[in-house]
Amino acid sequence: MSTSFQNIKGTFDILPDAYSDGGTRIASSAEWHAVEETIRDVMHRHNLEEIRTPIFEPTELVARGVGQMTDIVSKEMFAFERSGTNYVLRPEITAPVMRSFLQHHLEQRGGVQKLFYIGPCFRAEQPQKGRYRQFHQFGVEVIGADDPRADAETIAIMMAIYRAFGVENTSLRINTLGMPDARAKFVNALRDYLEPYEDDLSETSRRRLAKNPLRILDTKLDYEQEILANAPALTDFVEADSREHYERVKTHLDDLSIEYEEDPLLVRGLDYYTRTAFELESPDLGAQSALAGGGRYDLLAEEIGSSQPVPSIGFAAGMERLFLAIEAAGNDLPEPAGADVFFASLGEDAERWVFRTVHRFRREGLHVAHDLKGRSLKSQMKEANRQDATYAIIIGGNELEAGAAQVKHMASGEQVEVPFDGIVDFVMDRK
Ligand code: AMP
Repeated sequence: MSTSFQNIKGTFDILPDAYSDGGTRIASSAEWHAVEETIRDVMHRHNLEEIRTPIFEPTELVARGVGQMTDIVSKEMFAFERSGTNYVLRPEITAPVMRSFLQHHLEQRGGVQKLFYIGPCFRAEQPQKGRYRQFHQFGVEVIGADDPRADAETIAIMMAIYRAFGVENTSLRINTLGMPDARAKFVNALRDYLEPYEDDLSETSRRRLAKNPLRILDTKLDYEQEILANAPALTDFVEADSREHYERVKTHLDDLSIEYEEDPLLVRGLDYYTRTAFELESPDLGAQSALAGGGRYDLLAEEIGSSQPVPSIGFAAGMERLFLAIEAAGNDLPEPAGADVFFASLGEDAERWVFRTVHRFRREGLHVAHDLKGRSLKSQMKEANRQDATYAIIIGGNELEAGAAQVKHMASGEQVEVPFDGIVDFVMDRK
């Protein structure tokens, strides 16, 4: 069978079975489910609650300030207009979560709001291994806490998730960005330093030099990193308060035995980040090595209209990169369970009895499979094997007459005769 349509480049289908998409393994839907389950479990253990926001938002929420607008909207977002309003498919989930927090007055629930999310994000980037146009993020937002313990706890949650999957070969880099004044002074110093090298920079960096020189620090190009080696360091501009905060974050990370490396060049691209910034990488992932990143965003709430500051910290992580890291670590994903019972039928009367019974057993809580095609007994038993059913039961005229069936344990081949009204209990007891 075939179709002239294909999924859009940079997106992928998640199917019942894992498959290879241009050399990248796309996990099965059951594996996605299992991974999401583990993430939710770790989140719950850390006392986080789930939040879900729409996948599209007004453009102004996600891209604020003209400088960011042009660079990010034009290059990285899927944007559209409808009846005079500009929308974007969300490229990240932090701003939507803060919007939702403010809109629904979640602060009235009291204390610090510790939220997590899992869902799709969209970026109009050039697709390559580990980089998609529709990808999935999970992340945490700890809203309303300026205590350095919130920073260390956010990082600890992130590390706990990778540990839960046996992904240990990672490197955590941290830095402090200080408050905007310090950063503004640093940006000027950085621009002064880079201007003489303008002709040696890539086209992207030349554009950033004028609009947002901080983003040049994210460069992965060796020759640009060489130029940056002697650039002024943000750390030298950071004010005493932020430095003190940073020292306490590090002490708490030490208390939790979380290893990190300080990286004065680590700067998150967006303006609203303040103080703590961090990134988690895996050396096993090749070019797209970033697993997760995050930081403090004490100014975001006010930027989107709050009359009061809402100090907050969070991280965002890529699901696809998590799958790659699990694979690189050689760890298996949990296998999905097959059907408890597969019913095969012989003849029309048996087919009708099986059809009714299958639905009754499902109501009782069993995972039951059967054939919907009227195939031969041999084909039906093949199907029972393919579906990895624990038990198979063949129903024909004799069974209907006797009111009992042979319940066959597929793995051992053992068969036991069980009256019809005892089958559910028989299978349940052995689950
Ligand atoms: P960022 O907000 O850019 O730091 O993204 C957070 C995380 O999302 C990154 O560390 C990656 O793991 C993941 N990520 C970002 N962009 C993509 C993409 N285009 N495709 C797949 N994963 C991505």
